[in-house]
Amino acid sequence: MEKMTTNRILEGEEIYELTLRPRRLKEFVGQKTIVENLKVFIQAAKKRKEPLEHVLLFGPPGLGKTTLAHIIAKEMNANIYPTAGPILERPFDLAGILSNLNHADILFIDEVHRINKAVEEYLYPALEDFRLDVIQDKGVGAQVLRLKLEHFTLVGATTRSGLLTSPLRSRFGINFRLDYYPASDLYHIVKRSAKILTVGITDDAAMEIATRARGTPRIANRLLRRIRDFAQVKEKEHIDVGICDYALEKLEVDKRGLDEMDKRIIKTIIEKFQGGPVGINSLAVAVGEDAQTIEEVFEPFLIMEGLINRTPRGREATQLAYEHFNLKRDQGPLFK
Ligand code: ADP
Repeated sequence: MEKMTTNRILEGEEIYELTLRPRRLKEFVGQKTIVENLKVFIQAAKKRKEPLEHVLLFGPPGLGKTTLAHIIAKEMNANIYPTAGPILERPFDLAGILSNLNHADILFIDEVHRINKAVEEYLYPALEDFRLDVIQDKGVGAQVLRLKLEHFTLVGATTRSGLLTSPLRSRFGINFRLDYYPASDLYHIVKRSAKILTVGITDDAAMEIATRARGTPRIANRLLRRIRDFAQVKEKEHIDVGICDYALEKLEVDKRGLDEMDKRIIKTIIEKFQGGPVGINSLAVAVGEDAQTIEEVFEPFLIMEGLINRTPRGREATQLAYEHFNLKRDQGPLFK
C-alpha cells in the first residue's frame, strides 16, 4: 500500500504513469538481470523473514526506477512511503518520516543525490544501526535524543550516481543500474500499454513507436498517447503505421527519437570538432551541459544506438551519425 508523505496533486502524465505502471515483477518488461537478481534477493529476505537490504537504483529518467521501488514494496508485502531528496530539507523532516516507519516498510527517496548534506549525516546511523540521534537545543544545554527505529528498507533512486557521496553509496547493500531499453522490449511495453488504454494497434505500428522512443518506456507511453489523439481525430479505428508516421512527424520526433540535446551533442562533435575525437570537458563546454550529465544521461543512449564512440582520446561521431544528419565526412586537412 502506498502512503504519501507529500500531499501533491497528481497531474496529467503522472495519472497515466500510475495506470500504466507494472505492479508486479512479472509484468516488468526487460532489464532481465535486474529482475532475476531482485527475485532472488526478495525471496531470500522473505524466507529469512527479514526486510530487504537498502537498494540503490540508478539510471536515466523514465527507465522504471520509481516503478521498481513500488514493485519491491508490493512483492515484499510492505508499505511504501515515497519522498524525494529536495523535499528533505531539514533533519526534522527526515526524523518525522523515519520515526513513523514500521518493520520492513519501504522508504523511497527519489533523487537521493539531492538530499541536503546536514540531513544526509542523520541518515547514516538510521541506515546502518536503525537509530536516529536528534540534537535538541543547540549550545551548552544541548541534548542528544536517541531514537530507536524499526528495521526499514531505503530504496534510493538517482539519475546522477556520480553525485552520490561515497558514505551514502556504501550503505546500499543492493545496487542496480538501469539501461536504456532495446526496441524489442519497448515494443512489448507499447503493446501492453495499448491494451490497458483499450486502443487497437498493429504490430508494425507498435514497433515504429518502439524504435522512436529513445530507449525509454516513459517516452514510448507518451508517444502512444499522443498518436492515439491523432488517430481519434482522424476517426481511425486503430493505430497503424500510417497514422504513426503522420503523428510522429507532426510531433517532430525523428526516425531515431533523438531529443534536442542528443542532436546538439552529435552535431557539435561533427561540426565543431571535425567528428572528434573530442574530450568530454571540451564537448560539455561547447554544448552547454554538465560533463557528468552527458556521461550518465545522454552518452549511454547515443553509444547504444551506434551514433557515437567512446575512445581513449575522446568521443567520436560514427558513420551512422553522419548518415542520420545527411552530413558528409570532412576529408581532413590533407585533402583540403
Ligand atoms: P523513473 O522513476 O526511472 O523516472 P518510472 O518508474 O516513473 O521511471 O517509469 C516511467 C513509466 O514508464 C512508468 O509509469 C511505466 O508506465 C513505464 N515503465 C517503466 N519501466 C517499465 C517496464 N520495465 N515495463 C513496463 N513499463 C515500464
